[in-house]
Amino acid sequence: MSAAAEGPGAMQGLRSDDALMAGIANEEHLVCTECGQRAAMRDMPSTCLRCGGIFDLRFPDKPTATPDETGNPGVWYWQRFLPDCAPANRVTLGEGGTPLLFCARLGAELGLDAFWVKNDAVMPTGSFKDRAIAVAISLARQYGKRGVVLSSSGNAGASAAAYAARAGLPAVVLVPATAPPSKLRQILVHGARLATVQGETSDCCRLAAVAARRFGWVNLTTTYYNPYGVDGYATITYEIAAARPDVLLLPISCGPLLAGMMKGFARMRALGLIERVPRPVAVQPERCAPIVRAFKSGARVRAWTPEHTIASALNDTLAGYERDGDYTLAWLRRYDGTAVAVPDEAVIKAMRALAAREGLFVEPSAAVPVAAISHLVASGWLDRGTRVMAVATGHGLKDVPAAAIAELPAPIAPTEAALAVVLDQVVSGPP
Ligand SMILES: [Zn+2]
Repeated sequence: MSAAAEGPGAMQGLRSDDALMAGIANEEHLVCTECGQRAAMRDMPSTCLRCGGIFDLRFPDKPTATPDETGNPGVWYWQRFLPDCAPANRVTLGEGGTPLLFCARLGAELGLDAFWVKNDAVMPTGSFKDRAIAVAISLARQYGKRGVVLSSSGNAGASAAAYAARAGLPAVVLVPATAPPSKLRQILVHGARLATVQGETSDCCRLAAVAARRFGWVNLTTTYYNPYGVDGYATITYEIAAARPDVLLLPISCGPLLAGMMKGFARMRALGLIERVPRPVAVQPERCAPIVRAFKSGARVRAWTPEHTIASALNDTLAGYERDGDYTLAWLRRYDGTAVAVPDEAVIKAMRALAAREGLFVEPSAAVPVAAISHLVASGWLDRGTRVMAVATGHGLKDVPAAAIAELPAPIAPTEAALAVVLDQVVSGPP
């Protein structure tokens, strides 16, 4: 990414390199990460009007803005580190503030002494997307936008449908017809207009851009078309920094989660709040791994040929917005990260291990980072003492069939004799 430099005054008193990466500036605006073109936040554009490049939010640090502890401010608890938004325009369902769970049993099995899961699966709509959508829809209200539209593999669509309902804004959601049915029903129950598309996420993405232009609506697609969401994801870092992770394991489709978290850590280091920025690991399913492929080859990101993967939330070929993948790679390389692809079988194994060892039922895509741990330990990239943190992004109830529990136990008679058979099985181990 290019520096797209601000005036030198913007960085006074701060570690300048981090401050630039963190987007700390004297006044709020967007800047194109490719050509440096500036744009006003009030228009809420998706991409650079001059070159189509990715926009990055720049805004001042607000040290006098203490955490908002009124009622349940959700992501706006971190108002110091977010763009300006009048309290009356903030839309929240109580997102953020999710549990950071130390996982001793699973960590030991995987060869780690210090392993945590940041459980964003327990957000209001069941996925981490709520952080991005809460910020973007609040800004849509702040700037008087009339509606929202997005492309989604399901989770962002459900999130946008819920937050748009709460904001009183119409929402149009474009989703591949192959998305898990429970996610489609979740979108519909909130009253959004759902269009299922016979195509890939990238097809939905192209159509969402057309709809946004036609109606003058905000495009909430949680690729970098939605630069506002990136700073929403950054709020995860403020919640986990005290645990001092060395490494972050992140499930990646397009990558705004990774960019947002590294931007958040850069901000904290620029402000002298932390000493060290953790190394990111981008993990993708083997059947859709355009960013991992580019990382390993050193070439630019190319669109992936569509394949089915159980990790449906990460099934984004990036066709038509390959540059988004390159932008994510730039963040990954800047902070000395790595990228790993994992087979679907390992994803199912990790999903079951999270559920059976730690009580965490997540959807396959959320288990993807955990599936990468054995490989990273075996290769020596992670050692036993590394403080490792994985972000769990979506709840298991979003896609129950993916849990691949084919057989339910046969009903037993309501008798003590029948119960005794079950109890004997418990004592002697799983059937
Ligand atoms: Zn540009």
